[in-house]
Amino acid sequence: IEQSALQNDKLAMLGKIAAAIAHEIRNPLTSIRGFIQLLRPYLLEVGKEEYARIILTEIDRANDIIYEFLNSSKPSAPVKQAKSIENLIREVVMLTESESLMRNCEIGIESHLEDAIVSIDIKQVKQVILNLVKNSLDAVEETQSERRGRIDIVLNSDGQYVEIMIKDNGKGMDKLTMSKLFDPFFTTKEEGTGLGLSVSYRIIRNHGGTIRVNSKMGSGTEFIIYLPLVG
Ligand code: ADP
Repeated sequence: IEQSALQNDKLAMLGKIAAAIAHEIRNPLTSIRGFIQLLRPYLLEVGKEEYARIILTEIDRANDIIYEFLNSSKPSAPVKQAKSIENLIREVVMLTESESLMRNCEIGIESHLEDAIVSIDIKQVKQVILNLVKNSLDAVEETQSERRGRIDIVLNSDGQYVEIMIKDNGKGMDKLTMSKLFDPFFTTKEEGTGLGLSVSYRIIRNHGGTIRVNSKMGSGTEFIIYLPLVG
């Protein structure tokens, strides 16, 4: 599936909007934060310091969301480093451990590689794997009552590319979803942004690789990321 010029325009526009919003919203948030700090002793006096704590936590959360949004929509050229793909996968899986435990989903890693090295922007590619694993976690959540959630990450190589397959036994996708899934803002989730896959696709393309997807409604989905090997 090729990402169209329209999709790229949308992403570029989004980057601009995100930067403007980040600027305009962060400043007032910073001053709100400062004044709440000043009010803290008064709230403490009336036994309501808890309110200050909640306000501060929520302001920080809003800031995090802005930061993430800005980060994910900003097209930045990859800063590449040599990295073992297997180590990278293990690091990402570790990051998702508490969430997968909470959702009672097992994640397995199976490598058929002899320590393959790729030249990648580590942060960007980590974000891609994380996006895909999180999508799988969402997908298995909905079928959890029928079968235990399972995600398998399988590493392979054809000598030229490494293949990172992320396979879940979740709800799968229908044809319409399959045809739109790399579109910016396309989401079927109530709280989704629809940005994860479009950004992931762009990142992998910027690395000279590609992403393929197979899915079957009701039984699961597999994404395969191809990245060029070093050497
Ligand atoms: P978001 O996760 O915010 O919805 P994405 O771009 O990551 O945005 O995904 C777009 C849509 O693709 C999702 O809303 C979902 O419908 C579908 N999707 C992605 N990954 C999977 C998966 N592993 N299983 C089923 N559907 C998926």
